[in-house]
Amino acid sequence: MLDPAKAGHVAPDPANADLAGAVLTIDLGALCDNWRAMRAASGAAECSAVVKANAYGTGQGPAVTALRAAGCRTFFVAHPHEAFLAKAAAPDATIYVLNGLPPGAARRLAAAGVQPVLGSLHELAEWRREAGDAPAALHIDTGMERLGLTAREAGEAAAQGAGPLSLVMSHFVASEEPDNPLNDRQITRFTELSALFPGTRRSLANSSGIWLPQAPHFDLTRPGYGLYGGNPAPHVRPARPNPMRPVVRLEARILQLRDIAPDDTVGYNASWRANGERRVATLSVGYADGIFRSASVGNTGSPQTHTPPHMGGAALVAGVLCPFAGKISMDLLAVDVTGVPRDAARAGDMVTLIGDALNVDAVAARWGTIGYEVLTSLGQRHARHYVGTA
Ligand SMILES: *Cc1c(COP(=O)(O)O)cnc(C)c1O
Repeated sequence: MLDPAKAGHVAPDPANADLAGAVLTIDLGALCDNWRAMRAASGAAECSAVVKANAYGTGQGPAVTALRAAGCRTFFVAHPHEAFLAKAAAPDATIYVLNGLPPGAARRLAAAGVQPVLGSLHELAEWRREAGDAPAALHIDTGMERLGLTAREAGEAAAQGAGPLSLVMSHFVASEEPDNPLNDRQITRFTELSALFPGTRRSLANSSGIWLPQAPHFDLTRPGYGLYGGNPAPHVRPARPNPMRPVVRLEARILQLRDIAPDDTVGYNASWRANGERRVATLSVGYADGIFRSASVGNTGSPQTHTPPHMGGAALVAGVLCPFAGKISMDLLAVDVTGVPRDAARAGDMVTLIGDALNVDAVAARWGTIGYEVLTSLGQRHARHYVGTA
């Protein structure tokens, strides 16, 4: 019988972990330290944890269990099924569903003790009709134009009586940009609109919002990205080091090393040509493992050459930063290791794709995306190691 919980699960079992192409190490101690740093930065507000998308790719079950042990009592997910899993890992915690109330789901959510973040008058009406006085959160839009009640709808809901609300919340558009005037505008709007629901706890700040100079912490903060090691304050001036500890390390195995003659090309479409004697290592990961194909590095100018505005990917081989060479394949990736001493890179050695200088934000810049997407794309067939505790 196919176990539905394991369907689609391709990570090696622990007995065969050494046979995987890559090893993903998740530091739960760092995750909890980051949560404590977020809690300290949240002032008097309660600090929750956003664990949607499999805890940003790190594994929802281990993340919720560790954060609960660290003292976290409120979790946010995107979908109801993620909420049910979170509730199983932390039965005494408050679990909110950010994407709101799917049609026909109210009774199942209420029975599980899970709270939707109601994002429209329609959802509010359905929740009250089906779930009675069960508490829920209410999302008020202050500028994202994505989910949440408009100012007029918030007024209507308040006038009609919204029923028992445990939280009223909104979401920043650009909190990682401390100088963006939208931040002040949203804080003002949220302060005004949330006042329509007196006595209800309020929440506005995501990771970057927590670190804004306005300190818009209200009663509850909602960090996600920073918990997983991303820099919550990347654009503060003067620049300062990321206050978060790295959580994720991705290492892949060298399968082969090859000496390449001048003008030889590497990989599909011959998009990378050796501009001299080069040494190339072939790694046992590819785009099927979450290494974006758009991080390929080409130099031949052929129509298939990817010439992105970003730098392209790199790996740390024996501590040396080595650029990718040519198209990333599904399960393989070539790296130019010419700069590494010959005896320092051997077949079977592990090299770092995420970790140390290649932190999540640096990797994202090279791959032409944001760290959130790097994390949530972490491959499913790596050997996963969880280290550290709350
Ligand atoms: C994802 C999300 C968060 C967490 O944001 P980070 O930038 O990852 O800290 C908070 N609130 C809402 C509504 C979200 O969708």
